[in-house]
Amino acid sequence: MTTERVCGSCTLCCKLLNIPEFTSPAGKWCEKCDPKKGCTIYGNHPEKCKTFKCLWLLNLGLELDRPDKSKIVMKFVKAPQDNVTQLQIYVDLGYPKAWEIPYVKKMIDKLTSKGGRTFIIYGEKRTAIGNKDVLKILEGRVIK
Ligand code: SF4
Ligand code: SF4
Repeated sequence: MTTERVCGSCTLCCKLLNIPEFTSPAGKWCEKCDPKKGCTIYGNHPEKCKTFKCLWLLNLGLELDRPDKSKIVMKFVKAPQDNVTQLQIYVDLGYPKAWEIPYVKKMIDKLTSKGGRTFIIYGEKRTAIGNKDVLKILEGRVIK
């Protein structure tokens, strides 16, 4: 039996993801976050925050891979321009190689072999990894 995971003291998505409602560019703490206590407007936080579940919360990886420890927050999205599945890996500043762990690399390979692609997002920098033909579609486009 698997127990449902909870965020506990992790707040890393409040730092790495962009919340357009607030002055919180990706890579910097949301202005509403107290990293030690969590969301200071909990209950009135945006819908995007209420519904967000990183892949770890959805049972990917080991218990000890919780984002505040692994320093990465992962999610799957469908690219609006071509509906291709993309894995987005947000990496905490100061830990640029945090995503280079075996199970994450395996996921990237599997996704690439199926035509999907991965973005490593480190501050303002986005690096695309994937099948060359798929990546070509992205040339000259803004990636969301
Ligand atoms: S990164 Fe994942 S585990 Fe951490 S607070 Fe966000 S949803 Fe919860
Ligand atoms: S509003 Fe709250 S839950 Fe949403 S990113 Fe900011 S601190 Fe986190």
